[in-house]
Amino acid sequence: MKKAIYPGSFDPVTLGHIDVIERASKLFDHLIIGVLNNSAKTPLFSIEERVKMLQEVTKDLPNVEVKSFGGLTVDFAKQCGANAVVRGLRAITDFEYELQIAQLNRVIDHEVDTVFLTTNLKYAYLSSSSVKEVAAYGGDISQFVTPYVEEEVHKKYKGKIKGKE
Ligand code: ADP
Repeated sequence: MKKAIYPGSFDPVTLGHIDVIERASKLFDHLIIGVLNNSAKTPLFSIEERVKMLQEVTKDLPNVEVKSFGGLTVDFAKQCGANAVVRGLRAITDFEYELQIAQLNRVIDHEVDTVFLTTNLKYAYLSSSSVKEVAAYGGDISQFVTPYVEEEVHKKYKGKIKGKE
């Protein structure tokens, strides 16, 4: 059974993430999405909210599971019994950072390999931060996230749209 993890912040999950999830779920028998509980970042959504949104958007993918984790990615992979880490690559700017992390992870644990999926060109420009930026100014994010996530993002910014205070 081939198991992989797909770690990230997913604050919030975008259509770019979902594209990677769908493709990875076809490559592996079991895919575990690891939502990172990173104390160094102040996310818009709590860890529970991010897990819930991911569960909602992946409910039709039977071999996909969502968990939260803290600490090292390779440790999380080991706990899950996975020997692959899936990451998405959008642009060359992602590459340098991702290559470094992948090499570091491989030094920490040589049994865990990183598999990169290049982004669908449709979503190459898309990031969780740009979704939040557009929503913070009251812009339309319906092309970037699912309707469920759109609703959740709007709830966060309700009554505090920038430039309209
Ligand atoms: P992190 O904080 O770990 O970068 P993100 O939630 O921003 O977490 O991203 C998780 C993973 O998804 C990363 O590998 C990132 O490169 C990838 N990713 C983010 N946006 C896209 C996109 N639009 N298309 C493909 N992959 C993406």
